[in-house]
Amino acid sequence: MQRTMTCPECGFENLSWLSRCQVCGERLHKEEEVELPARSRKSFLPKTLLGRWSVGLAGASVVLTLTAVLVVFLLRSQLTDANVQPSLALLAVGSAGMVGYFLGIAAWIIGLISIWKSRERSILVFAVVLVGLSASVGLFYLASNI
Ligand SMILES: [Zn+2]
Repeated sequence: MQRTMTCPECGFENLSWLSRCQVCGERLHKEEEVELPARSRKSFLPKTLLGRWSVGLAGASVVLTLTAVLVVFLLRSQLTDANVQPSLALLAVGSAGMVGYFLGIAAWIIGLISIWKSRERSILVFAVVLVGLSASVGLFYLASNI
C-alpha cells in the first residue's frame, strides 16, 4: 500500500516520495525544508512570551487610559466647579488612569526586553515600544506645561 502526500497548493494526492507535486509542481514536504530559524522571522503578531505580554499589557493600558480620559472629559464641567467634592467615581477614574499609565510603562519595558533578549521581531511589539516612547515624551511635555 502506497502512502500519499497532499499537495499544499492544489490538494492533489501525490506519492509521498515525490519532492514536487505532479499536477502543479509545488514543493511537497515544505515544512521540513524551508523552516527558518525563529529569530530571523519578522511577523505581525509576537512570537515570544514576553512579546505577547507586552502587547497584552499595552492593550489593557490603552483601554484603561482612554476610558479614564473620556470620563474626565465628560465630567470636566463638574471638575472645574469648586463646590463639587471629588466623588468616588472620579477617584476610580483617577486610579484607572494611574493603573493604565503603569501598565503602559510595564508594556514598554517588557517590549524592549523581548526585542533585546528574546529577539522578538513582531511589528506589534515594535509599535508598542514606539508608541510608548512617544506617549511618555508627550505626557512629560503635557505635565511640564500644566
Ligand atoms: Zn499541486
